[in-house]
Amino acid sequence: MFWEKEIETIDKKELEKYQIQKLNETLNNCKKAPFYKKVFEKLNIEKINSFEDIKRLPFTTKQDLRDNFPYGFLTIGLEDVVRLHSSSGTTGNPTVVFHTKKDLEEWTNLIARCMYMVGVRKNDVFQNMMGYGLFTGGIGFHYGAEKLGALIIPIGPGNSKRQIWFMKEFKTTVIHILPSYALRLYTFFEEMGIDPKKDLNLKIAFIGAEPHSEQIRRKIEELYNIKAYNSYGLSEMNGPGVAFECPYQNGMHIWEDNYYVEIINPETGEVLPDGEEGELVLTTLKRTAMPLIRYRTRDLTRIIPGECKCGRTHRRIDRIKGRSDDMLIINGVNIFPIQIEKTIMRIPEVGNNYIIEIKKENYMDKLYVKVELNEKTFNGTLTEIENLQKKLTEELKTELGISPVVKFVEASSFPETEGKAVRVYDLREKE
Ligand code: ADP
Ligand code: ZN
Repeated sequence: MFWEKEIETIDKKELEKYQIQKLNETLNNCKKAPFYKKVFEKLNIEKINSFEDIKRLPFTTKQDLRDNFPYGFLTIGLEDVVRLHSSSGTTGNPTVVFHTKKDLEEWTNLIARCMYMVGVRKNDVFQNMMGYGLFTGGIGFHYGAEKLGALIIPIGPGNSKRQIWFMKEFKTTVIHILPSYALRLYTFFEEMGIDPKKDLNLKIAFIGAEPHSEQIRRKIEELYNIKAYNSYGLSEMNGPGVAFECPYQNGMHIWEDNYYVEIINPETGEVLPDGEEGELVLTTLKRTAMPLIRYRTRDLTRIIPGECKCGRTHRRIDRIKGRSDDMLIINGVNIFPIQIEKTIMRIPEVGNNYIIEIKKENYMDKLYVKVELNEKTFNGTLTEIENLQKKLTEELKTELGISPVVKFVEASSFPETEGKAVRVYDLREKE
């Protein structure tokens, strides 16, 4: 049993009190780290009495983590640190986060809480297809599943045929997988003569670690006949287990007993009310080795106002729209890659994968969208393909406000990657 009912359904007022207490503990603790010591010497803030006071605290950025590499955020001696993790460095040098034993226990609890929430139990067989090692996805879920007592297959990513063989032989019921990899993996089933709907025992998938649209989720659910739950986290906040969908699949509960949540206007830093979209800012409430205050995640989302039917009182964040630095400016128009994905995935004839290229041509930006076609469509008549191209171009134009060049390629044309999918190639500077 891992339904932490008391804390998951805590009364709002109680939660507030708890958070203020934890914020003060965190504030005191973080001053032991060389970085925060310097910051707070100048600020002279001794105590937080209300959430208004938090607005006076400075933000912490990824750049601060990099500038104070490797130990500038550590509050304790290395003798009590038992592990480090580091981000995959998608957008630059890696950032490192340290944990005590207690920190790891808290993190494990959160993951167990998430998995239990959507129905994982000790009799489940859990195939963990996320990377193990410095990346937090694999190990994070591993410990959570172990806490629940499930049988874990710590297989990691890649080697698709072997994945499918394990799924079949051990009757895997739960998988943890990158959404882009779930779609790629599907293309191997036919070749192996296995129908995931009939020949496997899958029930639940955890998909996360990269932005994906609602359409991609539904597609994964349909292909595998499975329930797919969105899982959000970042290594600076431990990794997965920060926010997670409940059975209602309507936003991700963000665990407010562990994280203090704010949404800010990324340009002005102003805190926005629930419902408004902005950058997610998080403060760790329980971490001891490396607490972080008002950490700017750069992830864009909003708090979904209102209560969830499941009874949990922790607020929900909406699907991540992307990082603030994912935004593309194409001939002056702001575009998020996820808008392109949404539009492509609304059209059933196209396949599972796409890439976006931006080039400079005659001093103007040109957006290319290259989309894989499924086998049936690829072998269709020229007119059918031309019509599809027109349709997709029109729909993208309506969604984005600019006209792209749509190109179709055969299924599985794009190179296979083991980590997070790289789908945007901005070739403008190089030309
Ligand atoms: P890196 O910053 O190097 O990619 P992480 O592995 O810590 O390293 O990645 C965390 C980031 O991954 C988040 O800040 C967010 O941008 C993205 N991410 C994680 N989970 C999700 C999710 N469920 N939906 C969208 N984006 C996600
Ligand atoms: Zn809920």
